[in-house]
Amino acid sequence: MSNAADAIRARGFRKWYEARLIEAHVHLVTAFLCLIAVLAVIEMGGLFRNVERTLFVLACVAFLGAAGAWNWRRYFRVIGMAQYLSARSDCPACGAYARFEVLYTGPREDRDGALGDDAALLPAMQVRCRKCGAEWRL
Ligand SMILES: [Zn+2]
Repeated sequence: MSNAADAIRARGFRKWYEARLIEAHVHLVTAFLCLIAVLAVIEMGGLFRNVERTLFVLACVAFLGAAGAWNWRRYFRVIGMAQYLSARSDCPACGAYARFEVLYTGPREDRDGALGDDAALLPAMQVRCRKCGAEWRL
């Protein structure tokens, strides 16, 4: 995952947020496709017909299950990070949503543990409202 601050600086928050929503939902759809594929492989039957068939079915289920689980987890990570920043993107002075520029970044403190492992990937950002010039930490 690229640094969110650099991406927001380059493209703006709205486009960054839109891209994260699309990315997250691609992972969600992929997770469901993996689930359907696992069920289809099991539904094909022949699990205990012979050793080769059993190994094939088990390998498919293991691979598709792992891919589905990874995509499922990834969906929540990406959408969680996007929602975390979105909820803090209103200017505290004028209320303008997502109209800010990133001034500088620093290490993020995750006191409430809301970000978990993602705190390291999401630096704290000092931002300035483009409408009224107020600054706040995102
Ligand atoms: Zn403002």
